[in-house]
Amino acid sequence: MKSKELFERAKKYLVGGVNSPVRYFKPYPFFVERAKDCYLYDVDGNKYIDYCLAYGPMVLGHANEKVIKKVEKQLYLGTAYGCPTEKEIILAEMVVDRVPCAELVRFVNSGTEATMSAIRLARGYTGRKKIIKFDGAYHGAHDYVLVKSGSGALTHGTPNSPGIPEETTKNTILVPFNDEEALEKAIKENRDEIACVIVEPVMGNVGCILPKEGYLKFLREITEENNILLIFDEVITGFRLARGGAQEYFNVVPDLATLGKILGGGFPIGAIVGKREIMEHFSPSGKVYQAGTFNGNPVSVTAGIATLEQLDENFYKKTTKFAEEIANALKELSERYKVEAKIYQIASMFQIYFNKEEVINYDIAKKSDTEKYMKYFHELLKRGIFVPPSQFECCFTSIKHEEVVEETINKLEEVFKALT
Ligand code: PLP
Repeated sequence: MKSKELFERAKKYLVGGVNSPVRYFKPYPFFVERAKDCYLYDVDGNKYIDYCLAYGPMVLGHANEKVIKKVEKQLYLGTAYGCPTEKEIILAEMVVDRVPCAELVRFVNSGTEATMSAIRLARGYTGRKKIIKFDGAYHGAHDYVLVKSGSGALTHGTPNSPGIPEETTKNTILVPFNDEEALEKAIKENRDEIACVIVEPVMGNVGCILPKEGYLKFLREITEENNILLIFDEVITGFRLARGGAQEYFNVVPDLATLGKILGGGFPIGAIVGKREIMEHFSPSGKVYQAGTFNGNPVSVTAGIATLEQLDENFYKKTTKFAEEIANALKELSERYKVEAKIYQIASMFQIYFNKEEVINYDIAKKSDTEKYMKYFHELLKRGIFVPPSQFECCFTSIKHEEVVEETINKLEEVFKALT
């Protein structure tokens, strides 16, 4: 088992053997040799249908030819200049054309940087310190938001990370998702002190939690009434739920949004976008400092352009259809095999919770049977299907999943048999 050997070797040099905690699962993760379309190939000769897709970015499948060609050309032209390029403008134009709230763009290198800078901008613009975030939301691994956080932080038992001074997080107010009253109360208790509400419009880091009907509109109204900025963290939902992301899908326009993942077509990127009047407070036009050696990196930007160009109507129709078919199969199988489960899907996102209750927030998500989820994960893995190794992540479909949906559903039936 080469993966086993590599993991032993990795542990000698890399903390915990991996460079991001979400990649670890017991007894050891498989090590990838290459990837193409909807498949990952590991060093032990196994092939997996990939529903993790690098936690979201690979919506065209792995190693997309058009992206590779454009990136290859760019590599020969240089990989980092520390000077502006036309390609940054082209990608920014594409973003402004697609994302309703985007009038100006600042490219950064990750979703983490995007939310960190968006929050700083909201604080600098409003002159207020406090922010509101939702229980279980994950906005990256920086200090303002690593409280009651989802994703790997929750999976590995540190939703509140040590090392973050309470002085930093005392200005982060937590409320449950899908609960109007709790938010009203928090705003009332902190009147004129809140800079922004930051929200994942669909919570994709504690499984897949959908907003209740009208909930995002309610967020828009209450923030507007109280002069609070509304930030949609669309690092997952951006370019996924629709061309213009969740804000187009739900027809709710925030003041600012953060983007990442799909925007870089498999290369590191992030972006803060929003209303001109607010965005202009970023340096150098304003005083809120934001900078980065690799901001607007020409390779990432090239891959981003080549990716967004391919996201046409057919892409949205098909990726949604694949996820819908799998979600419907999961519902049918869980009923037929009497496995208590709740299944949620929107566009190309889906997840199963081994839970009796409808999962509408973090507290309910946490009551899910995570041991059963890990059994489900391993049974799938044995059959050549890779989903995220945590109940608190989300599955994704790509445009390349067309030929594997039926195979996936057949294997899911075997997995449900094994679960009962
Ligand atoms: N925001 C959301 C909603 C995310 O899902 C993630 C990552 O999974 C981030 C922010 C952080 O992005 P990155 O991992 O690129 O720093």
